[in-house]
Amino acid sequence: MSLRALVPTRYRRAARRAAKVSVGAAASALACIVVAIGSVDGAALMGPRIPLPQAMIACAVAVLAIAAVMRRVQFTPPSARAQRVSMWLSAAVDLADLELALALVAGLHVVIAVTGGLASPAYPALYALVAFAVTILARPGAIATLGAALLLEVSLLVRTGITDQTALAAGLHAVFLSGAATAHLVLLRGLTSRYRRRRAKRLEEELGALRDSARDYRLIAAALGPGSRAPRGRDEEERLLAIGGVGMIGDAMSWVLGTLKRSLGARTVALLWLDDDGERIKLKEVVSDADDITEAPRLPNAGVLGAVIRDREPLLVGATKPGQLPYYDGGRAGVALVAVPIVEGGHLRGILAADRDAGFSEADRDLLADATAQVLRVVQAEQVFRAVERAKYEHERFYQATAMLGRALTAEQVMETAFDAAAAIVDYDAGAIALYEKDRARHKVSAVRVREHGAGLIDPVQLAGLEFKDNAGLVSMVVKNRHYLPAGGEPREVSAPIYTRKVKIEDAKSLLVLPLIAADEVIGTLTLVARAEKRFGKDIREMLAVIANQVAVSLQNGLLYKKMETMATTDGLTGLTNHRSFQERFEDLLMRAQRHNGRVALLLCDVDHFKKVNDNYGHPIGDEVLRRVARVLQEVPRKIDIPARYGGEEFAVLLDNVDVDQAKAVAERIRIEISKVVVETEKGGLSVTQSIGIAAFPDDGRDRATLIERADLSLYHAKHTGRNRVVTWAEAQASKTKKAG
Ligand code: GH3
Ligand code: MG
Ligand code: MG
Repeated sequence: MSLRALVPTRYRRAARRAAKVSVGAAASALACIVVAIGSVDGAALMGPRIPLPQAMIACAVAVLAIAAVMRRVQFTPPSARAQRVSMWLSAAVDLADLELALALVAGLHVVIAVTGGLASPAYPALYALVAFAVTILARPGAIATLGAALLLEVSLLVRTGITDQTALAAGLHAVFLSGAATAHLVLLRGLTSRYRRRRAKRLEEELGALRDSARDYRLIAAALGPGSRAPRGRDEEERLLAIGGVGMIGDAMSWVLGTLKRSLGARTVALLWLDDDGERIKLKEVVSDADDITEAPRLPNAGVLGAVIRDREPLLVGATKPGQLPYYDGGRAGVALVAVPIVEGGHLRGILAADRDAGFSEADRDLLADATAQVLRVVQAEQVFRAVERAKYEHERFYQATAMLGRALTAEQVMETAFDAAAAIVDYDAGAIALYEKDRARHKVSAVRVREHGAGLIDPVQLAGLEFKDNAGLVSMVVKNRHYLPAGGEPREVSAPIYTRKVKIEDAKSLLVLPLIAADEVIGTLTLVARAEKRFGKDIREMLAVIANQVAVSLQNGLLYKKMETMATTDGLTGLTNHRSFQERFEDLLMRAQRHNGRVALLLCDVDHFKKVNDNYGHPIGDEVLRRVARVLQEVPRKIDIPARYGGEEFAVLLDNVDVDQAKAVAERIRIEISKVVVETEKGGLSVTQSIGIAAFPDDGRDRATLIERADLSLYHAKHTGRNRVVTWAEAQASKTKKAG
């Protein structure tokens, strides 16, 4: 078995690599050692008889140094991948630096040796080498250079013999060497940080420029998503789009005109555009060598170009008469002119004109006529571009509108958000949502929004809360047809009123009533009106219809939420606040009263001999009695007071901001009203009475538990002193003391 077979390939390859990358550094290190141990004796070499081995060693070191420089210059670092794979290859760069550093230090020390040792004038070269290494080489190379220089310095000192003089010389050299290294390190730091700062600044500038041009191409707004555009209104967005579009037309157009001017050798090539009314012309784009081109955007008259507008035929003029060329300030007489009409789809859009001193040929005229196609293409491209931009914008708005609706929780929130969502789609002036109750065939306007320019368009006071039965109006028709009306979004298509005949919406030139359909049921309508004409175009109508469906679903959720909330806080039998909710509101009232030195009175009411009612008339009649009692409790106190079903046939009433006497007066009224209630039964009319106990904050107690307990004791007292009575805590206390006395 050979040795090759014994050593695994992996190790053999590693050894090969190690040898390859480190052989140079090893040789250089050897050279340093050779110099350090004094193999090159400068004095002997400079003597009359040159010792051959010494000379050979000196030459070898010199050759090694030169070779090292050449090897380092030609060195190509291993690929990043190779460096990752092998430790030796990753060290290759540092080892190459090391080789160069050590070889140069050794070489310079040979020079120093032959030029006088410690007193050599060649020392500055060594300082320079150290400075070079610190500035250029990576850290290992820099450290090796300085280290080798210092070590060789020490060895030279030892070989020369340590005296005060030599030690001083060597010390100075060491100081200079370290100084050179430090100075360059500091310089380098400064340079790099300045370089970095400059680069960072340049980068910043370049990013800024990029951002600007990206904005020009309207990429950023799209990239940032819909939120970034939220603050802009639709009109503003349109305006920006138009500005961007105009800029792009301008660029493309001046390129076309410039090319024409060069190929015709013209003084001026001008694009004139007709106003929307087709009456006046304006100078849209011009490329010219002249400096008397008119500054006025609208030309005062068409001059000689009037013929082109009139006849829609190209025009060749040999020499213009004074005042004939409208795009020059003075009119410019005596120049040759060629002008062609720009016609798009049978409509005259503008004129393309060129002038120069020498006359134009028919070939020139045809060239200009061909160019009009190019001009039109630029305009059309821009129109397409704008349409695409608008579609993109509309999608974003749409997304935004639906996202908004997703966040609304209560029915009120949903309705308010519906107006916002619609505003994201279209700039309307006023809107209203009417909820529809299918069972009663009734509509009720539940939310109204008047926007910035909507004042006077509708009367929000008249509209809010308006209730009406199904009729021949638009809203009723939309509910019946389950499709938005009018079909074209304009009120003149329908003669029917929107809600009822009484509600007038006068100035609206655009109108749309959308059904709110959830789970296949129309739960209401969304009406939008605008003063401007043609606000609800086809795209807008379709988008609003989808939004309306979203609104409907959210609205139904909101109504459900409200129902659940009501169920959680009210008592099913009587519709009064339930026990849990009563406790919460009692606590709230007490806290507020404590903060503001207010008062709260608690009435606890219990129907007298109620068991007998149940026994004699049955449970259903008992329930009816409870309902009637509850109604009295709702009607007698003020709106702000809180009647609650405390449990079974016991009720509680919270009176805010009353003292005991006032509370007793209310309780008396309740007691009397209840005694008047007559429930019709099979066995004839049934009446009940009620006993009421009162405790009041702060006189009878300061916390909820105490007040309830004392009101209950007062009630107990009322029961035991004949029923159908009102007893306050003070009265209960007084009679107790009397009894005790
Ligand atoms: P007192 O004058 O002492 O209050 O006599 P009472 O018979 O009213 O006695 P008590 O207050 O203890 O009676 C409570 C009765 O109320 C017992 C129960 O059958 C009846 N009750 C409680 N809750 C309901 C209810 O929701 N519906 C009906 N029909 N009866 C109820
Ligand atoms: Mg009871
Ligand atoms: Mg009772």
